[in-house]
Amino acid sequence: MNLILFGPPGAGKGTQSALLIERMGMKQISTGDLFRAAIKNQTKLGKEAKGYLDAGKLVPDSVTIGLVEETLGEMGDQAFILDGFPRNVPQAEALTTILNQLHLKVDKTIFLEVPMKMLLGRLTGRRVCKNCGATYHIESKPPKKDSICDVCGGPVVQRPDDKEDVIRTRLEAYETSTRPLKDYYKAKGPYVEVDGVGTSDEVFTRISQALKSR
Ligand code: AMP
Repeated sequence: MNLILFGPPGAGKGTQSALLIERMGMKQISTGDLFRAAIKNQTKLGKEAKGYLDAGKLVPDSVTIGLVEETLGEMGDQAFILDGFPRNVPQAEALTTILNQLHLKVDKTIFLEVPMKMLLGRLTGRRVCKNCGATYHIESKPPKKDSICDVCGGPVVQRPDDKEDVIRTRLEAYETSTRPLKDYYKAKGPYVEVDGVGTSDEVFTRISQALKSR
């Protein structure tokens, strides 16, 4: 089953993708992760994208769409979750073209709904492992040992774009560019909205139920 998972920054897309991978065997395509890896490895893509990520702005469509086209082209028959792509209507339209060319289809688009007022707290408190990407929260899910990843022992840090001023820009980008995708996918279908408030297991149960519905 191929899925699109979208929603505001801090809605829990990364956490839910990790659970879908673990429990349903899908492969995640996270444009945010791909950009961060490219920045770490100082590739041409990383150099192009860095300024946008640092500022909390969307990377230009020409760069992002090319990256997704290449990644989807390498997927073969593997079921996938698109996490963080598309993030605006032009990207959604480009995705339709790419999927048609590759004879692939998306089975369901899931919108993860979290009220705006909760997002700032989720994002400013979020911490991630620099090595394996495991996510934590300083209040609701701190690592067992301070700043050390429970999974791999790597350093647990704050993402540079999880600082409050950058978060505000990211939330603005969401409001302006990504939120309109709700109407786009509602009209296009199959589309489902899932309440993203609760523990990760509660949200995962809702997603699993939504995937069974037609
Ligand atoms: P994320 O990890 O999904 O929160 O994405 C982090 C950052 O990567 C965003 O703030 C953007 O700068 C960039 N990014 C990720 N996905 C996209 C996309 N589909 N289009 C443009 N920029 C993106």
